[in-house]
Amino acid sequence: MRTDAWLREQLDQLLRGPFSDMTVANRLTVHFGRRAGRRFGSILMTRDKRESRITINGHFRDETVPEAIVQATLAHELSHYAHGFSSPLPKKYKSPHAGGVILREFKKRGLEMLYHYEKQWSKSHWGEYLKAHMEPRAYRSLSRRPAATGLLQLLRHFEW
Ligand SMILES: [Zn+2]
Repeated sequence: MRTDAWLREQLDQLLRGPFSDMTVANRLTVHFGRRAGRRFGSILMTRDKRESRITINGHFRDETVPEAIVQATLAHELSHYAHGFSSPLPKKYKSPHAGGVILREFKKRGLEMLYHYEKQWSKSHWGEYLKAHMEPRAYRSLSRRPAATGLLQLLRHFEW
């Protein structure tokens, strides 16, 4: 099982490499959260702005989830940070997912392949992974959401 220390090392690798030109303007922390159905990760800043916290889906502790998926999720949250969302940096866009801004950030940092790999993997593998690993009750409630015509279709619309 991967640990928070492992996660920290993944984050540091991104900060030393593709994100090395980005100013880290407060305390940036990362940890595994609960095992979630749809959100791969999130970033929040404390009210006093001293700390930004990245939370990664607890399912990703499992080593059968490719490392690249964890890296793509971290890079996604770091992109929000770079754009001034949940970070003290100046806000670059109106909203965190304004038209294609995440992809643009990945491209700028030479991570385009990682971006597409993550999209592909989540389409082709995530639904099956959840089926095998989610607690049955949680899985049923996810499947039963009225807007969804099928679980896989629902899973394509990540909010992360
Ligand atoms: Zn996002």
